[in-house]
Amino acid sequence: MTVKTRFAPSPTGYLHVGGARTALFSWLHARRHGGKFVLRIEDTDRERSTDESVNAILEGMTWLGLEYDEGPIYQTHRFERYNTVIGELMAKGLAYRCDCSRERLDGIREEQMARKAKPRYDGHCRGREVGSDAPHVIRFRNPDEGGVVVDDRVRGKVAYDNAELDDLIIRRTDGSPTYNLTVVVDDLDMGITDVIRGDDHLNNTPRQINILRALGAEPPRYAHVPMILGDDGSRLSKRHGAVSVMQYREQGILPEALLNYLVRLGWSYGDQEIFSLDELTQLFDIKDVNKAASSFNTDKLLWLNQHYIKEDDPKRIARLLSPLLGDLDIDPTQGPDLVEVVKAQQERAKTLVEMAEISAFVYKDFDEFEPKAAKKHLRPVAAEALQQVREALAIVSDWSPAALHDTVERVAELMDVKMGKVAQPLRVAVVGRAASPGIDVTLYLVGREACLRRIDRALEYIAARAGDQV
Ligand code: GLU
Repeated sequence: MTVKTRFAPSPTGYLHVGGARTALFSWLHARRHGGKFVLRIEDTDRERSTDESVNAILEGMTWLGLEYDEGPIYQTHRFERYNTVIGELMAKGLAYRCDCSRERLDGIREEQMARKAKPRYDGHCRGREVGSDAPHVIRFRNPDEGGVVVDDRVRGKVAYDNAELDDLIIRRTDGSPTYNLTVVVDDLDMGITDVIRGDDHLNNTPRQINILRALGAEPPRYAHVPMILGDDGSRLSKRHGAVSVMQYREQGILPEALLNYLVRLGWSYGDQEIFSLDELTQLFDIKDVNKAASSFNTDKLLWLNQHYIKEDDPKRIARLLSPLLGDLDIDPTQGPDLVEVVKAQQERAKTLVEMAEISAFVYKDFDEFEPKAAKKHLRPVAAEALQQVREALAIVSDWSPAALHDTVERVAELMDVKMGKVAQPLRVAVVGRAASPGIDVTLYLVGREACLRRIDRALEYIAARAGDQV
């Protein structure tokens, strides 16, 4: 039997990291077994489903590279099919119309709560003839006897008594089918063999199994994965920072870093931390997913991101970095090749946004010196070094990193000081900060004209401050 998994988001918001992790697990399970992965959009809640959200989900999946073999399949396109199935259940006496009023339902609920019983529908309409003309819902006739055991790949065996399960509504008064019915029909029609989803759905599973059995079908295998917690132990939410996949892109996270991070949230393979997708498709086993919830750890994500930034092809990083420089009003085609800049910065940034920020100096003059760096390095004693190095740079014939290195070194030698005494003021003059790639590459990327202009500005700054001090 071909393995087939699905990711079935309800398009009521962005694609959040919990959903992305579920999608990744489903995708990996399918890939590992040479199976298929389906994307299904569960948009039957028309009030809350939006096109923007569908787009956000599709965009997130594409960005992460979780390509699907079938879909997106929209549940709203399948109402006819759901109604046919409801009709079949009615014909077999496995579903029935119910016209109980809200007051009546509230009444039984209150009475059940008062005697500390679990609130559930009392089956009042099971034996009644409710006409189809008056407003009514349709309920599934849950078996009275026996029970259901969910043999879950993550949670193990979880047993439910049928006596605890309701005759749940499968069609609302407005004629729309409900979640538990549509999921069952879809999983069946699409030939889903493995349902991997959040454990907030675990309690729906025995109900879905009962409906499947009523339709004469065998249930798929289930795996319910635990939720993701924030660093304070409560359920991950906006309060903890970014939760939407696309927010991570905006923050300069690479998709492979986020995927690697997400797979390790609840799954491990020895103490290995870094996994390529290819490797994961060999190694991932849904049975190894932890039962316990795992906590989101932003530092670890940043560590992985830094790793991938370092390892990745500079050309690709440059492509991803370009729009982020655009956000800083920089046109990277006006200046040195961005690939060169990336090579110089690859070891120095945890995110692409940070890389854009620390690379801006290459393309445009900075607004002001970073105060601490200026205080330390742009002091009157630095003026001579800057003056000398300016003269030397003005006449260097070969503007290459090697020649620039020699030039700075020679100035230091002539002045009989350590190279840092020249290089650090020079760096602050040219970059605005005390940190940048090697001084040779820094000067090379900035170019002669801008270097000289910025050194002049630093000399003016020193002179003005010296004046202040007098
Ligand atoms: N649409 C459901 C959700 O977004 C998922 C249903 C399922 O995976 O069975 O929570």
